Amino acid sequence: MKSQVTWDRGICLGGHGMWLDPHTIRDLAFVSHAHSDHTRRHKLALMTPQTHDLLPPGRRPHQAQLVGLGQSCQLGSARLEMHDAGHILGSAMLLLEANSERLLYTGDLKLRPLRRPAPTAIPRAQVLVMESTYGEPRFRFPDPEEVLEELARWCRRLIAERVTPVLLANALGKSQELMLALASHGLRFALESRCVPWVRGYERAGVVFPDWVALDPAAGVGTRVVMAPPAGKSEVRRLAHYRTALISGWTLDQRMRTHFGADAGFAYSDHCGFDELVEVAQLSGAATVYTVHGFAHELAQHLKRRGIRACALRSNEQLELL
Ligand SMILES: [Zn+2]
Repeated sequence: MKSQVTWDRGICLGGHGMWLDPHTIRDLAFVSHAHSDHTRRHKLALMTPQTHDLLPPGRRPHQAQLVGLGQSCQLGSARLEMHDAGHILGSAMLLLEANSERLLYTGDLKLRPLRRPAPTAIPRAQVLVMESTYGEPRFRFPDPEEVLEELARWCRRLIAERVTPVLLANALGKSQELMLALASHGLRFALESRCVPWVRGYERAGVVFPDWVALDPAAGVGTRVVMAPPAGKSEVRRLAHYRTALISGWTLDQRMRTHFGADAGFAYSDHCGFDELVEVAQLSGAATVYTVHGFAHELAQHLKRRGIRACALRSNEQLELL
């Protein structure tokens, strides 16, 4: 594969005219998942059917090529395969194969999603382009089951004190994961309005949730746990007595905890932590790793110390691959 990578708020595989999660509108783009920082109204976009279904009409591409997880399609002489990224519903990694050489692009990635019998399978490739959101050693996440156990205790204690627990988590993906994980603790939920469409999207995909209602602060929420996005708490502030907890890998960063002004923080993420990112690079067997998003430079430095040829892709950079 004699391909150029152009990092310009996205990645262009020059020989194939395919952009990867670009931030500007393109003729042809791969959209790894439905989070808003990855979706634009491209002319033609490759994505999974679940991602397409989750997108509000105003954020869908003009034309979509829908390829399911584990399935493939052809782009010129290249073969494109969609692999489960374990991040949110429908999230995909893209494996591009041409002339017997393989490039893997991870998008946002979770190596060990909850309630999965096995870790996310990382396809082997000569070149890996990987997200590096938490690509610094201070982002080593504690055991997720223990964090969720502690979170459930925090919720139950507040409910016993007639205080409403408010969990501040990404409205798409994290909120649904938390509802499913906390259901076994007998908790019920009231959803801030921005969380509701995403739960309905998951339900359309066949996911069954524990008892939930839309949040109506005026009517009160009884003993329910409130789910709300971290930013903009106008609905939450109308509750009588409540405490907030930020559920995010960023809680390991004191500045972010202060930024969101939460009463408590629980380090649970739907991204890989630092150790998992290193593991992904090793599992891919890639001879060359390019890091993008987040702590890209720092992760590349750590990978180099482990003997992996790695570098961070910067804006407008063009690199010859393979
Ligand atoms: Zn994401």
